[in-house]
Amino acid sequence: MTHPRRAAAALCEPGRLPLSARARAEVARVAERYPMRIPPHLAACIDWSDPRCPVRRQLVPDRRELEPGGAADPLDEERFCLAPGVVRRFEDRLLAIVTHACPVHCRHCNRKRLWRRGGEHGLEVAGPEQIALALRRAPGAREVILSGGEPLLLSDRALGERLEAARAAPGVELVRIHSRAPVSVPERITPALARRLGRERPLWFVTHFNAAREVTPRAARAVARLLQAGVPVLNQAVLLRGVNDSFAALEALGRALVRVGVKPHTLFQLDHAEGVLHFQVPLRRAVELVGALRRRASGLLVPHLLVDLPGRGGKVAVGPDTIRRWTRRGAWLRGADGRERFYFDGGAGGSAGAAW
Ligand code: SF4
Repeated sequence: MTHPRRAAAALCEPGRLPLSARARAEVARVAERYPMRIPPHLAACIDWSDPRCPVRRQLVPDRRELEPGGAADPLDEERFCLAPGVVRRFEDRLLAIVTHACPVHCRHCNRKRLWRRGGEHGLEVAGPEQIALALRRAPGAREVILSGGEPLLLSDRALGERLEAARAAPGVELVRIHSRAPVSVPERITPALARRLGRERPLWFVTHFNAAREVTPRAARAVARLLQAGVPVLNQAVLLRGVNDSFAALEALGRALVRVGVKPHTLFQLDHAEGVLHFQVPLRRAVELVGALRRRASGLLVPHLLVDLPGRGGKVAVGPDTIRRWTRRGAWLRGADGRERFYFDGGAGGSAGAAW
């Protein structure tokens, strides 16, 4: 298999987009700050004649990315690094950032600071030594998550070394890989890689489809390889305005996922990262949408609606137990640590700054 880094070139030049000259100029202006990168598989997935195409909206730079507001590190990951590139925000889990590289630049990415031009950040890359060091410092950790960037941009061998480091600690019960490769570069899930991951069980593969249109035959083949190797695949979507913020879109996504054997696991409210706030969906609307899914669709299709509160607030399932009170600007939620924190809806338009 051709490694994605050497595969057909991604679409990175705004001048190559099949759009009007004016639209290309606008894209170029945004891409000076947040570069564009659309892998060939996803470029072919876009309906270029439809400005509302959900794949296009996730991948083509939008002038609203330059509006002020949002935090570079919305989840305080850099404050909670236990070793270089290894974050501990939860007692029982470690998050290892094993690469900053990504074959796609999703416009809604909450780690946009890692690929922003001229961006500064303090999140390093974790190799096997850093993972081992963090595990020595966190003897209570039971779970290690390999994330990035795109962890599958590592070679099979480099990925295997990090998996082994995670497994070596006696308390670790399972490893998760958080990867968008089935969506962006499905050819990366080779039979050899799937077999390799199958030997690492218990290992959970968490991927990130946001629209039914992304569940292509090639993506389905990539998922099938993982499932045949015995690796369960869950989906973690983000609720995005103009992409999947309707009952029809979420139902279609859920149906497309379960058809290929992926459980819609979580639906995240948008993190308040810089350059993404135009995707914000008010929390009340999110609760309505998931409630409608629960009432009208098979339970298999219904993800948990989660808000990731910064720092040690935790990933909070939004429901009657966690919403303390609504205000006109958002809601007060009870975090995993019992403290109340405000989730700001960014106004109805979502263009204002984050206010944690
Ligand atoms: S694949 Fe993930 S890390 Fe990469 S740009 Fe998209 S959201 Fe960000």
